Amino acid sequence: MSNTMPPAHPFDDDKLKEECGIFGVIGLSDAANFVALGLHALQHRGQEAGGIVAHDPEQGFNSVRRFGYVRDNFTDESVMQTLPGALAIGHVRYSTAGSKGQTAIRDVQPFFGEFSMGGAAIAHNGNITNANSLRRELIDRGSIFQSSSDSECIIHLMARSMGRSIPDRMEEALRKVEGAFSVVAMTRTKLIGVRDPLGVRPLVLGQVGDGWVLSSETCALDIIGARFIREIEPGEMVVINDKGVQSHFPFRPAKSRFCIFEHVYFSRPDSILGGRSVYETRRQIGVELAKEAPVDADLVCPVPDSGTPAAIGFSQESGIPYAMGIIRNQYMGRTFIEPTEQIRNMGVRLKLNVNRALIEGKRVILVDDSVVRGTTSRKIKEMILDAGAAEVHFRIASPPTAWPCFYGVDTPQREKLLAATMSEEEMRNHLAVDSLRFISLDGLYRAVGEAGGRDPKAPAYCDACFSGEYPVEPADMLEQGFQLKTAAE
Ligand code: SF4
Repeated sequence: MSNTMPPAHPFDDDKLKEECGIFGVIGLSDAANFVALGLHALQHRGQEAGGIVAHDPEQGFNSVRRFGYVRDNFTDESVMQTLPGALAIGHVRYSTAGSKGQTAIRDVQPFFGEFSMGGAAIAHNGNITNANSLRRELIDRGSIFQSSSDSECIIHLMARSMGRSIPDRMEEALRKVEGAFSVVAMTRTKLIGVRDPLGVRPLVLGQVGDGWVLSSETCALDIIGARFIREIEPGEMVVINDKGVQSHFPFRPAKSRFCIFEHVYFSRPDSILGGRSVYETRRQIGVELAKEAPVDADLVCPVPDSGTPAAIGFSQESGIPYAMGIIRNQYMGRTFIEPTEQIRNMGVRLKLNVNRALIEGKRVILVDDSVVRGTTSRKIKEMILDAGAAEVHFRIASPPTAWPCFYGVDTPQREKLLAATMSEEEMRNHLAVDSLRFISLDGLYRAVGEAGGRDPKAPAYCDACFSGEYPVEPADMLEQGFQLKTAAE
């Protein structure tokens, strides 16, 4: 199967990309089928490849790891029959660490290790910020790595641990790991879920019948009819077997710093994060944006689809009518996956079209979730002007993205980020629009429920891609010459 996948979002080439979704089930026969459905619901978190490991007492561990969409790889009965058992975990990925952009099948998770007390498989969402030094140390001590993924360090650290059970070994391994990790793992009899002490990436617990489920997001519980029980807490480890769920907190406590961008863009709008509907938070971002950056105009149009809730909020607050000024082609299938250069250059037009009858002669406010390189924003502006718009005003539902993420999101190098090299006014000139405004960091914090805005001494979220303040030092990147924010910036 080709590993060149069509983007889930029409502008994926100019968006930050969440890298992974994880899902696990225990206590349901044919667990792998439930995992496949869960991964399908999490496909927006990674479209490059996916894998499932299942365990059956008679047949032991089995795994299937493939490039491509879940629906293309894990719906065939002949494949799913090879994954029997009532315990299974799975992973969908877009690479952030490892062989970025050209994933080898050996980099596709879950990873599996055979230990003296039995086998274990792990699926990791996040990014280990000290993976390079850990890998060097492990290789020096004899470990033989199979992949280029940072996540494989966890398996090798477990192999070196003297812990008497697999959960003990995992706990010891994860204490040596820095950065962001939500992990779903399995042994022959247990499903394990862990979240790093800052809780950067999400992980939730659900229940369906006699079975338990771990998932990156609640939307994937819904698809299998599971009831949302609670979030796994930052720094928590849960071990689930036929007797139920055991919880403990093996790491040194820290103030949680959940990724604020999950609210803005990564998570699905029908998920619940921190007790809040993602859709409602995004709508509220639009409300805040309309208060902070009002503009006289005729229409508020979302850049589909992720700008939609914020555009609705902007329209409601401003009283300016909401309209679907840009229509997304829902059937961007595989036809153009590997297009000729000529078709590739058509880019945005292939994916989106302007609703000319609505736009002509109007002053249009376009609401998008973020500006990364700015390449797509320019093309959209041109399309809107070509359709006869009188004015184009951009309103962006996140602050300027000026710093790369090292916690499991694929971002361009800092110098490629438009906001890293230009002021807001310079960006407006560069995009050649009538106005451009981003929500402030305080406004974003208010929208996610922090009434007082951002507490600069103790921010409630990770917002490093906006603020440049990294809650965990990105050790590997510093080693490679990355410069942290200076006092002058
Ligand atoms: S740097 Fe940005 S994208 Fe990365 S975890 Fe922090 S808020 Fe999320």
